[in-house]
Amino acid sequence: MRTTYLSLGSNLGDREANLKDARERLASADVRILRVSSIYETEPRDFAGQPWFLNQVIEAETSLFPRQLLSHVQRVERALGRKRAAPKGPRTIDLDILLFGEAVVATPDLEIPHPRLHTRRFVLEPLAELAPDIRHPRTRRTVREMLADVKDQAVRKI
Ligand code: ADP
Ligand code: MG
Repeated sequence: MRTTYLSLGSNLGDREANLKDARERLASADVRILRVSSIYETEPRDFAGQPWFLNQVIEAETSLFPRQLLSHVQRVERALGRKRAAPKGPRTIDLDILLFGEAVVATPDLEIPHPRLHTRRFVLEPLAELAPDIRHPRTRRTVREMLADVKDQAVRKI
């Protein structure tokens, strides 16, 4: 069993219902959700003019391998009707694998830790609620330290 942290984001439709639906579908025989962060409303980063996001991080225990977990989260994204219209654009649900134990994976379709983990306040803020002292397996920086460097983006706990 490995402990993994997943990021959930939604900025289309009933955002809170989308997060709940995603949590329910993520939980399975191979994925047990241990703890969930608060939900945060966050300013879109990559292109402006799209609706604000709701973001949340969950801690889960899994018997899956990283690549199997990616397939699982992508299945859940499809089940929630995610359309890949504009890259980085509005989406009913975005599920990212942030951390997977101490694993480091660097392949074209899967990178763990998530490559933008350390630059995203909308991920670090909820992650810090659950695990402020865990370290990035490559840089060895704690979540708390990474968060202290990204105070720019507007993020509001709801
Ligand atoms: P983004 O999350 O960057 O807005 P997408 O959700 O469309 O964009 O993801 C694009 C691709 O990122 C996915 O097809 C997936 O193969 C890849 N990817 C690489 N590393 C990860 C990860 N740690 N978690 C989720 N997806 C990842
Ligand atoms: Mg994604």
